[in-house]
Amino acid sequence: DGGSRPDYLAGLNPEQTEAVETLEGPVLVLAGAGTGKTRVLTTRIAHILNTGRAFPSQILAVTFTNKAAREMKERIALLVGGAVEGMPWLGTFHSIGVKLLRRHGELVGLRSDFTILDTDDVVRLIKQLIQAEGLDDKRWPAKQFAGMIDTWKNKGLGPADIPEGDARAFANGRGRDLYFAYQARLTTLNACDFGDLLMHPIAIFRKNPDLLKEYHGRFRYILVDEYQDTNTAQYMWLRLLAQRAKGEPQNVCCVGDDDQSIYGWRGAEVDNILRFEKDFPGAKVIKLERNYRSTEHILGAAAHLIAHNEGRLGKTLFTDRSDPDDVKVQVHASWDSEEEARAIGEEIEQLQRGKHLLNDIAILVRASFQMREFEDRFVTLGLNYRVIGGPRFYERLEIRDAMAYFRLVAQASDDLAFERIINTPKRGLGDTTVRALHDYARARDIPMLAAAADIIETDELKPKARKALFDVIQSFRRWQELLENTPHTELAEQILEESGYTDMWKNDKSAEAPGRLENLKELIRSMESFESMRGFLEHVSLVMDAETNENLDAVSIMTLHSAKGLEFDTVFLPGWEEGLFPHQRSLDESGRAGLEEERRLAYVGITRAKHRCHIWFVSNRRIHGLWQSTLPSRFLDELPETHVEVAEMEQSYGGYGRGGYGQSRFDKAEPFANSYSTPGWKRAQANKTDATRDNWGSRSGHAVERIGYGESGPKGRTIEGE
Ligand code: ATP
Ligand code: MG
Repeated sequence: DGGSRPDYLAGLNPEQTEAVETLEGPVLVLAGAGTGKTRVLTTRIAHILNTGRAFPSQILAVTFTNKAAREMKERIALLVGGAVEGMPWLGTFHSIGVKLLRRHGELVGLRSDFTILDTDDVVRLIKQLIQAEGLDDKRWPAKQFAGMIDTWKNKGLGPADIPEGDARAFANGRGRDLYFAYQARLTTLNACDFGDLLMHPIAIFRKNPDLLKEYHGRFRYILVDEYQDTNTAQYMWLRLLAQRAKGEPQNVCCVGDDDQSIYGWRGAEVDNILRFEKDFPGAKVIKLERNYRSTEHILGAAAHLIAHNEGRLGKTLFTDRSDPDDVKVQVHASWDSEEEARAIGEEIEQLQRGKHLLNDIAILVRASFQMREFEDRFVTLGLNYRVIGGPRFYERLEIRDAMAYFRLVAQASDDLAFERIINTPKRGLGDTTVRALHDYARARDIPMLAAAADIIETDELKPKARKALFDVIQSFRRWQELLENTPHTELAEQILEESGYTDMWKNDKSAEAPGRLENLKELIRSMESFESMRGFLEHVSLVMDAETNENLDAVSIMTLHSAKGLEFDTVFLPGWEEGLFPHQRSLDESGRAGLEEERRLAYVGITRAKHRCHIWFVSNRRIHGLWQSTLPSRFLDELPETHVEVAEMEQSYGGYGRGGYGQSRFDKAEPFANSYSTPGWKRAQANKTDATRDNWGSRSGHAVERIGYGESGPKGRTIEGE
């Protein structure tokens, strides 16, 4: 390259430098959290561009999320001085797949304006096919088959490839035919599903060697971040593009960490790491061992925890970042989740008083339903927050619908609410009726609900619509009467039941429906802390009004799954209880695989923190209207005493204005780790419970029944359009 070394190389350690400068031939960077894997990839791209080895359009770079892709683009622009003319092939596997298909879709029978179906669409379509086959769609649920297709596609299996046994498992051996029919139907509709965004490009490249060759020529450099979470189809896709004929340049660089593989439930194969060296002989494997992100305590806690997993590739991690002021990882207990949100809110306010930016704080939850309590609390406190990787709780479709019912009961002139729910669930009150009502109301300057009451006395509507409208109005009259004297949570439940809204989701077979029902229950539960329906509605309108401006200084709330690759100065990890984390589903599974993936998720969570990491557990959780006493997560027992301390429980209860961090209640000499039988947590929990029971007398009766938690992980997948 000649000349002096560019600035962007200056700060790298020798191993990182090697990974950046080894531009010829396959490279695998296998390294723990925070060792600079993503930084290496970014710098490598900058280096390629800066030395004129390739144009931006000749680099294929894969990130795990669209957000990560955007950030990488920004960083590269900074490193090379803003001279980058876009990076058209930097994105997720899915977004790159869309791009390829828009260009070459005709080779698999798709026009360039094809549509991408979401999960709901897919399930609906499969249901039609099942019925068309004369099969009982109760016995053979469409949702289940959609899941099977997804699994097959993650493994790169088309209808012709699925093993006999698998095919026989569904619909008396007609699974394979159905899969064929499904694909044919998609083609007719000029549509594809998420799996096809990988499957089609694979098929196109396999069937058209010349085209593949063209892309080999185009992509001079290929880079993949979060490589441990690639699934088989993604790996096949990658291998097609990266494996070259002998003598041709094969410049592929993958970076990953087997301990952070958290998408096994979606088909990710950690074994792809091992396959890499086989498929790309002579690959240079580089290990990065110095962590630049976290303090010694945070790293020590994470390393000790993950050591409980078997079947690891094994890595060393160290940090030079130790400062006498560094605090240990803090473990806190709260009575219940409301208390947990309150205590975390306190901690955050205290940090804020110490001039800590909210942008540097994250709350990482195991399951998305946990977010609601924090959102509510932060609105009360006036703390800005943003939810990453999904809508805020009160913005979800089902919550908005339910709220529209409540609003209309409390405020009969709320026309927006009226229009939202008058035909949800479907009652045969379609657009024509709504338009007629609208005109009628406008002409008389009255609210639509009042207009509806008037109009049924006339013959403006068809008898069917009139009858349906009559029924709805009766219901609203009844609910309005109950408003003053019925407990508002009871009324809310009654409204959702009687309106048919709950049933609408119960009868819905889509993958989202159970999560939506769970959110509706959480909604009812969230009303409990308010005196009245009106008080609650007022609160929600404030929540909805809270700004979500990107530039605002705000706490980030997200699931652990969507926190991958990110870092924050301070991280809060609430809900470390058996059944929630590790999740009940992983405990029900036989074998260790599920539990080990949960532990990796815990490892990902802790290693997001740079300076402070607070872990929380509660002794009671209310799920589906039942109090359950909970056990502290086994992961807590797997944390090392040297790097972890227990915050003073009584204080965290007594006054909310507690200052500083508490002392460990464990004798320093007493081994704290490696035993579930260590009475430590139990003792801590018991003390705390005793100390607070009196204050919570009325709440102390709780059912001990254990109920599984529902939906978790990131909701849906998004791809960036072109
Ligand atoms: P993860 O496994 O969580 O994705 P990672 O290995 O990708 O982590 P990065 O996010 O690239 O790690 O880096 C972690 C932090 O360390 C970042 O803030 C990064 O800027 C910083 N960092 C990495 N390498 C260096 C270095 N040589 N000097 C200073 N800081 C560094
Ligand atoms: Mg990274």
